[in-house]
Order: sequence, then C-alpha cells, then structure tokens
Amino acid sequence: MSATTIASIRATPVTVPLEAPLLHSNGAHWGRFVRTVVEVETADGYLGLGEMGGGGEDATRAFAGLTPYLRGHDVFSLEKMRFAICNPTASLYNNRTQLHAALEFACLDIIGQKLGVPVHALLGGKVRDTVEFASYLFFRYADPGTGEGEVRTPEQLVAHAARLKAKHGFASHKLKGGVYPPRHELACYRALAASLPGERFRYDPNSALSLADAIAFGNAILDIRNDYFEDPVWGMSQLARLKDFVPLPIATNTVVINFEQLAETVRNGAVDVILLDTTFWGGIRPCIKAAGVCETMGLGVAVHSSGELGIQLATMLHMGSVVPNLGYAADAHYHHLVDDVIVGGPLPYRDGAIRVPDAPGLGVTLDRDRLARYHELFREWGGYPYDRDPGRPGWYPLVPNARWADPAVSLTPALR
Ligand SMILES: [Mg+2]
Repeated sequence: MSATTIASIRATPVTVPLEAPLLHSNGAHWGRFVRTVVEVETADGYLGLGEMGGGGEDATRAFAGLTPYLRGHDVFSLEKMRFAICNPTASLYNNRTQLHAALEFACLDIIGQKLGVPVHALLGGKVRDTVEFASYLFFRYADPGTGEGEVRTPEQLVAHAARLKAKHGFASHKLKGGVYPPRHELACYRALAASLPGERFRYDPNSALSLADAIAFGNAILDIRNDYFEDPVWGMSQLARLKDFVPLPIATNTVVINFEQLAETVRNGAVDVILLDTTFWGGIRPCIKAAGVCETMGLGVAVHSSGELGIQLATMLHMGSVVPNLGYAADAHYHHLVDDVIVGGPLPYRDGAIRVPDAPGLGVTLDRDRLARYHELFREWGGYPYDRDPGRPGWYPLVPNARWADPAVSLTPALR
C-alpha cells in the first residue's frame, strides 16, 4: 500500500446560528457558534475532515502555518505528527493542542476511508451502536429575530426541557448554570427534576460558585437523582475541599484536561468523573488513553461538549462508542444549532441517542453549499466575545462570582 501523505491543509471559519443565545457563567454564546472546518488533502486524493472551536481568520492562518511542517507527512504516522507539531515543551510556546486535535480527526478520517473501515474500528472497535446524550439545558435570551426562546424562570426551563425531551427523547438532563443567583438556579434545578420523575440530572455552574454557595447548593439537591456535581467551584484544591462537605460525585471538564492534571487528581482524589473532550485533550486517541487511565484508577468517564458541529460530533460518537467505561450520557450543544455543515443536515437523535456512523472514516461528508453559506455568515457577522454577556455591557465575573444576572429582568439584547 503506497503512503498517503498530506498535500494541503485548508481551514474555513463558519458561523452557524443557534436557536437562541445561550448564557453561561462567563458571558454567552451570542446566538451562533463560530467554528473552523479543517480539510486535509493527501497526495493520493483523499480528503479528511477536522473541526476546531472558534478561531476565525486567526485559525485559518494557524493551520496554513502548519502546512510546511506536515506536507509529505504520512497520515498513518499519528504519534509522529504529535511530536512534529505538539511536542510538550515546544507547546509551552506554540499552543497547538487544539490544532493537533483537528488534524488528528482528519488523519483518522483518511485512514478509515483508505482502509474502508469506520474510525471506531481503528480505535479498538465499538462496544455500543449509539451514544446517549443529555439534554444540556441553558438559560437563554430570546432570539431577537423571533422573540422566542427565553429560558429564565423555572416554568420556562421546565417547558423547554419538556419540548427537548418530546423532540429528541432525552432521559438525562444537564442544567448549565452560573448565571443567576444560586438560590434562583436551585429553584430551577429542583423544578426541572420534579417535572421529570425518575430521570437523571446534573448541574454545572462552570466553577462560578463560592465554596459556601456550592456547599449549600450541593446539600439542597441530595434527594435528586444526580449523575454528579460538575465544576461547582474553581480548582482541584477547592473541589477536594468541597467533598468534605457534600456527599456527591464531583465532575470536571475544566481542571483535568491533560495527563499531568489527570495524574494529579488521581493522587489528590479531588474529582470522581472526568469529562473528556476530543478538542481539549488534543484528539480522539488521547481521550481513549485517558479513559484507560480512568478505568484503571477507578474514575468515571463522561463526554464534554465544546460546541460542536457534525464533524466534531462524529469524533465524540466514535470515542463514545469504543470506551467501555463511559458511564454517563454525553453532553452536546448540538441540538441548540439550527443547521450543520454536513450532508443531510444535523445527525438525528432517537430516544436521546445518536447512532455511531459506520461508513468509512468519520462517516460524515461536508456539504459544500452549507459550508459556503455559513462561511459567508462568518464574514458578515464575524466572531463574538465568549466572555461577554450581550445583555450586560461591560460586565465580567470574578471567580467565585457574586455579581449575578437579575432573574426578574427579561432582556432581548442585540447580538451584533
Ligand atoms: Mg462543564
């Protein structure tokens, strides 16, 4: 078999609209996701797909800058590629982990296509045909175009969750908090749990709570069927301290995102469940390696979502399908998007799960018309500041936060 070597790398920023702006502890997703679609072409005519969060024109330049490093590189030589662009000490300077992840996705896609097998077959083989997802509920502003979509009160949250459940079949529900005062978010979370008896729940305020607020919140939800308490406070040391006061499993996607931190949390016992992210960890394969460490050391494994389109979602599906110790419904922002860049549009949920692609490679194909349309939308709208709230100009949080949004105020801010 002749070598399949990289001939070119192309990155295209896209903006894909969300149903409504999603609020989080640092600001908001301003009614859209900005992603970078990466295409790797080989000398023998294969095309592999990758994806990275945000990026815009800077990402286009960053990927173009890696072409001289990787032109002529055999896509099968994945470990060599890691050291060629992502050596751990050089990475202190060049910050390429997420670029590497997108290229790893594309190389795996090409390897699968060349061998005629799905990516999951390259990774040990799937142990499940579908991956279950959580509903991933956000507080939201109404979309300024439609005036619809606000989620601010317990009643709105319960109605939103019911709609998502009816449409997609979710049986596990995550509330993204850290926006309103903890007392209000507690009322919302409890109303949500009461509205869906027998189902599973998780709360994630993105590390915004003080230790005191996290202790009060945690002890007020012990009667709920919680999967875990996700990043209630910032930092491994504080998470470890919280465990002295709250008997809930602690999960993180913020302070264990590499192998150094994984080793540390094995030693200090701060975290019980690690949410693996195929971008943050630098690819699908590092996530599977980390899942193996978690299996050995008795830590739980879940899947983090960094706001994916269908290409990265496919990486999450392949990863989720081969990790035997995946113990929780995965997270995905996916159902908040109004469209995707892949042929056929968004992958469908059935009974709260998405089928793992079985076609060769990642099993998704780029839709050129959609790519062009959403690249044009990126050119028109540009990026958005993830760490700013369009409804509170000039505001930014401290950690822990105390300057919460006012749940009595209904806003529909402009998003451009
Ligand atoms: Mg999280």
